[in-house]
Amino acid sequence: RAKREGKNSVRAFQPLMGIEAAERVSTERDLRLALTQRHLVLHYQSQFDAQSGRLTGFEALVRWQHPTHGLLYPGKFIEIAEDSGLIVPMGEWVLNEACRQAAVWGANGQGFTVSVNVSALQFMDPVFLLKVQAALDSSGLKPECLILELTESVLLENRERALKQLTHLRDIGVRLALDDFGTGYSSLGLLQHLQGDILKIDSSFVRGGQIDVAGPGRALIEFLISLAHSLGMCVIAEGVETEEQYQALRSLDCDRIQGFLLGRPEPAELIEKRLNMVEPRTHEEILET
Ligand code: C2E
Ligand code: MG
Ligand code: MG
Ligand code: MG
Repeated sequence: RAKREGKNSVRAFQPLMGIEAAERVSTERDLRLALTQRHLVLHYQSQFDAQSGRLTGFEALVRWQHPTHGLLYPGKFIEIAEDSGLIVPMGEWVLNEACRQAAVWGANGQGFTVSVNVSALQFMDPVFLLKVQAALDSSGLKPECLILELTESVLLENRERALKQLTHLRDIGVRLALDDFGTGYSSLGLLQHLQGDILKIDSSFVRGGQIDVAGPGRALIEFLISLAHSLGMCVIAEGVETEEQYQALRSLDCDRIQGFLLGRPEPAELIEKRLNMVEPRTHEEILET
């Protein structure tokens, strides 16, 4: 077709870009449909107290049950959702669904938490606070059972507004977690704004850093954990895959553990089975550790 359009046609010069762009457009269109047709699902990954091994909560992770491509992971569509702005309605759905599910599972009484990932665009949305409040109201979930996971980028972009937003969220009573810590610009100064909340040490430290031996990785994690503790923060290590990593983190006084070793992200039905096997605790008990 490019040939027929003549020598001046730009089409002929960018066949690869054309394919990629077309793919993005079709993914975006499919994603829009997925939102309205309820093709998104949440999987939940369990988090455990590092010392007692008891369940403390779940992180909700979005998946897309695509009619022809099967189950898609966030790596395949989150970026497109962000670029197109679809992350805002998608995030709202995730927030509501996670709160609803946690409340149905008895989070209020049994004292476990549900963590929801929030992207920068969603967080900066002026109505985000109202949406959080609405999700709590309609589900009946206690605010202290909800953890919002933010990445450093959120706090770097528009610091003034972001800090105000954090204060408002704290007033609502939800908890905040700094996700993927150590992968971005990692200004340690950011930590002072998250006192009393949660630090999630990125899996790259846990896996790549040889924490099971007395190497630099171990020293770095030890430092991060003690810094977080001195700021009154709770530390969760992500991506724990081996018993050695678990034991190392435990000996370094890490508070909570999340990773394939103890549980992969699972559909709601499987989590329900898990919940029937664990003894309940109050949320005060869990949050105190
Ligand atoms: P994240 O928030 O850091 O979530 C942890 C990711 O690490 C998840 O990948 C999880 O499946 C994976 N993971 C957990 N334990 C292990 C382990 O032991 N080994 C390995 N290799 N991986 C482990 P997933 O579900 O593919 O999600 C990737 C990212 O997508 C998330 O990273 C988060 O940034 C984003 N995401 C997921 N759900 C949502 C959502 O609802 N909203 C937004 N805005 N982002 C989301
Ligand atoms: Mg997360
Ligand atoms: Mg993370
Ligand atoms: Mg990550």
